[in-house]
Amino acid sequence: MPDHRLLKSMLIKLIAYYWLLMIIGLYFEKIVDTLFVGSLVIILINLKEFITLVHWIWHSPHKQAVKNNSYWGYIYRGIDKSIKANRQRRKQLISALSQFREGADALPDGIVVFNQDNAILWCNSAARKFLGLSWPGDRGQLLNNLIRHQQFRQYIIRGDFSQRLELPSPHNDAVLLEHRVTSYGSDLFVLMSRDVTVLTQLEQMRRKFVADVSHELKTPLTVLHGYLELIDDEDNIDPLMWRKATTAMKTQAHRMQSLVEQLLALSKIETSQQPDNEKIKLNELMALVKDDAMVLIGERPVSIEFELDDNFTIDGNEAQLLSACTNLVSNAIRYSPDGSNIKVAWRQQHNGIEFSVADDGLGIAPHHLTRLTERFYRVDQSRSNQTGGTGLGLSIVKHVLVNHQSTLEIASVEGQGSRFSFVIDQRLLLTAGTVS
Ligand code: ADP
Repeated sequence: MPDHRLLKSMLIKLIAYYWLLMIIGLYFEKIVDTLFVGSLVIILINLKEFITLVHWIWHSPHKQAVKNNSYWGYIYRGIDKSIKANRQRRKQLISALSQFREGADALPDGIVVFNQDNAILWCNSAARKFLGLSWPGDRGQLLNNLIRHQQFRQYIIRGDFSQRLELPSPHNDAVLLEHRVTSYGSDLFVLMSRDVTVLTQLEQMRRKFVADVSHELKTPLTVLHGYLELIDDEDNIDPLMWRKATTAMKTQAHRMQSLVEQLLALSKIETSQQPDNEKIKLNELMALVKDDAMVLIGERPVSIEFELDDNFTIDGNEAQLLSACTNLVSNAIRYSPDGSNIKVAWRQQHNGIEFSVADDGLGIAPHHLTRLTERFYRVDQSRSNQTGGTGLGLSIVKHVLVNHQSTLEIASVEGQGSRFSFVIDQRLLLTAGTVS
């Protein structure tokens, strides 16, 4: 009921009541007494309603409010409405708070909220994992007491959070954490701890790669530079020396060219995680590998055999697989002395089709085997240089195989020979025919 209508009806009722009292008073000729008693009755009735209301508010506001149309009913319903609205608002706040906490709990970064005394107010599950905190067990504990790393304690105690802090996780040395603290509100702080292990490793790899490439280019450039300076000095130009200089410069220029080509090939293969696949006929692929091998062997007395179980067709990237196979065959030729035997084969196995290159050449000592596919890793730098190696061949093979869901297997005995192989999974085999 709107306020003004209630007020009007209350006034009308009051006036009617006092009229009645006046009539009764006139009738009994005791107007003052009747008005006094009548007023007292009203005060008592309202006092009783007031006490009931106070009891309802304090002890049973959850009970249904009085629904009658009196002004007391109106007050009850008003209070009841605002209690319900408050309850609803509280529910919404609790649900928003728990959603916020669930969200913060699901963050991959560790979050710790603490106050200006460094007492922990809340932490999420990543913080528990990274920093070894427990919740709610560590509520109210001092952050600088729980994390005992000296540098971390000083960082928190000093309170200068303009810089980030990188430290190993107190829980696991292999995990590197980057800590940042931001202040908010009047005296609250939030510590964010991020796992930067992979990022740091990538950054180290990038630095190493730049250093390796610079180092690889430095030697041929120094040689070229040296000869060019000699040629500048006109007195030194004699035909024999000229021939020697041009041969050396050509070799070094060729070395730099191979290096750049291999680097470009590697970067192309690494970035094409899903290469454009096509149908590859293995007999055609093998013919291309054979042509390259024959050119590389030239006049050298090295025997090489090619075997193909069946005329398979597989699903893959032809240019990449050709590069992988050619690299393996070229290594076998380059690292096998004259008189060696090399066998190149595509054979059906229980889990797919295996490509293998076996030689009875130099072989490799066991401690090198796990590092062979690293960029620029060589067993013997001078031998690799002699054979025109860049140290990138096996790295290219590895990445091609990753793109074809395969891995490189290496078996080698120093002084006896090596076998490099990989299996193309059965699922990539499209058809099998007879070798024509
Ligand atoms: P490179 O371009 O120097 O040949 P690779 O990545 O192709 O680089 O090979 C890495 C190293 O592995 C080579 O330097 C070489 O010492 C060794 N290696 C590769 N294949 C053979 C093999 N068939 N026999 C002996 N050593 C090999």
